Amino acid sequence: MSGPNDQYDPKQVSALSEESLAATVADALGAFAAASDSASLKAARLAHTGDRSPIALANREIGALPPAARKDAGRRMGAARGQINAALAARAEEIEAAELEEALTREAIDVTLPVALAPQGAIHPITGLMDLMGDVFVAMGWEIAEGPEVEAEWMNFDALNLHPDHPARAETDTLFVEPASAHRVLRTHTSPVQIRALLNRELPVYVVCPGKVFRSDEFDATHVPAFHQIEGLVVDKGITLAHLKGTLDHLAQAMFGDVTTRFRPNYFPFTEPSAEMDLECFVCHGASVGNPDAPCRTCRSEGWIEWGGCGVVNPRVLRAAGVDADVYSGFAFGMGIERTLMFRNNAEDMRDMVEGDVRFSRSLKGESR
Ligand SMILES: [Zn+2]
Repeated sequence: MSGPNDQYDPKQVSALSEESLAATVADALGAFAAASDSASLKAARLAHTGDRSPIALANREIGALPPAARKDAGRRMGAARGQINAALAARAEEIEAAELEEALTREAIDVTLPVALAPQGAIHPITGLMDLMGDVFVAMGWEIAEGPEVEAEWMNFDALNLHPDHPARAETDTLFVEPASAHRVLRTHTSPVQIRALLNRELPVYVVCPGKVFRSDEFDATHVPAFHQIEGLVVDKGITLAHLKGTLDHLAQAMFGDVTTRFRPNYFPFTEPSAEMDLECFVCHGASVGNPDAPCRTCRSEGWIEWGGCGVVNPRVLRAAGVDADVYSGFAFGMGIERTLMFRNNAEDMRDMVEGDVRFSRSLKGESR
């Protein structure tokens, strides 16, 4: 590097001359143009713009010039660097685009090729459907409530207005847990969860209770000893049968699409009035009724299929849970999950749902997620 030079003669600092700078720029532009990929462009960039590059070395010479000459040299230097940087940026863009294009071509995936997928686990259709039904209520602001499967006999029966002589309490239906003196049962319905919800929560209560229940039933196409229910309970001021009907219609539409429903009077100890909720047969839409030429297996040519029980909560049940039945009223309902799954998929044998054959689960669209 030159030292200060008071007797300035531009020719002494030849690196800053117009010709010399033009040659430096031409060298750099030639090197950039010759670079064919990002690695060689990087090498050209370091060689022609780096700390030891001709243009950088020439730039340092400006400091050695007398003040009067610096402005002129600075202008030439700025123009030269501008040309180099513009050429570098343009070439970098070209190379990047070319390399991207090449990578896309090279890494293209042939989606028609067969692949060997490892088997993947999935939620069981029953669990998936319970989640799906629960979601319908969560979307309306309800809560999901859960309770123990081994339940106090009082919770399972007495609190629900099932008197000690009610046939459902006989040991033929109920599985008692030893010792008998402990009065514990495998819950025969999810209703005790509703009682627990009433005891544990502040009013108003809007809960659904999905879960597993147990009865000493046969194991056949329409009965299994352990199955699943979803029950719902609302206790609030001014609740009527109309709220129940609207809620269940909404659930029916969420499960089965546009379906007609009806209430058929029935009796349950824990609701009054009580009803069975029927769905218009979505296979024959009632066309099989009185038409022996076109019988319907799904509804047994009755035009309707029974889905679940429901009703206005019996004030005795409210009182058993310490609720002022003169101020509050409510409704409750319960649906079988297996039954709902059968309706949604035209499945006919409940045993398929517990035997764990994945071919059955795979055949159910949308339930396994
Ligand atoms: Zn039918």
